[in-house]
Amino acid sequence: MSTSPLIGVLALQGDVREHLRSLAAVGARATAVRTLADLAAVAGLVIPGGESTTMSKLAVMDGMLEPLRDARRAGTPMYGSCAGMIMLADRVIDARPDQETIGGLDVTVRRNAFGRQVDSFESDLAIPSLGPEPFRAVFIRAPQVEAVGPGVEVLATIDRGEGASTIVAVRQGPFLATAFHPELTGDTRVHEMFVEMVRKSA
Ligand code: GLN
Repeated sequence: MSTSPLIGVLALQGDVREHLRSLAAVGARATAVRTLADLAAVAGLVIPGGESTTMSKLAVMDGMLEPLRDARRAGTPMYGSCAGMIMLADRVIDARPDQETIGGLDVTVRRNAFGRQVDSFESDLAIPSLGPEPFRAVFIRAPQVEAVGPGVEVLATIDRGEGASTIVAVRQGPFLATAFHPELTGDTRVHEMFVEMVRKSA
């Protein structure tokens, strides 16, 4: 029984394949999660980037929202990138009125926080917990974290000019979230960190 734990990628909507590829690249066993049976089989779950309002709608329609919340309450490690970060947030600013989240992270996020001019951009971020090499981060209509509760560890911030910065990566117990998309670059350090979190909790 020394096989590595099975990690799921929530496959309601979003860039599922890219996350499966990143997980495979770090030697994890990974599978798409579409059904309750899929969800029951995994030891950790990645929630991909995409569109959080659509993901919320599909989770409700497919009867997956409450089971996802149950898995989160049971302490199943979860990693959300971009729309996935929104799905893991306890509070969302500029959400659609009927938008639901899985929750778990004691943070307030703002959707589409970087404005129209910079819908999409890349930046070299310092993420000390991933080592000294900067992390090339891809932001696509990204959210930002506007407030964090006391149990939340801030992993990365981005410079907004004039001395201002905002939080773009956090961890709280078994939950990890980034406003950017590590699955779109060859840098697998965020996925490695998550796989390690799943291994430790398994
Ligand atoms: N703006 C999207 C949302 O609110 C997130 C974008 C992304 O995941 N790339 O869900």
